[in-house]
Amino acid sequence: MNQNEPRPGRSPRPRRARSAADSTRCPCCKKRTTFCWTCPCGFEICQACMRDNAWGLTCNHITWTCPDCGAQRSY
Ligand SMILES: [Zn+2]
Ligand SMILES: [Zn+2]
Repeated sequence: MNQNEPRPGRSPRPRRARSAADSTRCPCCKKRTTFCWTCPCGFEICQACMRDNAWGLTCNHITWTCPDCGAQRSY
């Protein structure tokens, strides 16, 4: 007879350390996002907000201008 052996309760559950650096909160829409356009001055904007504000931030989709410090950032 082949009896089922009691399995040791070993379920590999990788514990994900939630690092704050992994996701940031867009100051524009207050949503958590994994990707933000950032400027050295500290300005952050998420992809969605960037798209929404593309008309004001970028004119050629090659560079965008930080509204805080006016720096030209590559898109
Ligand atoms: Zn946003
Ligand atoms: Zn800036």
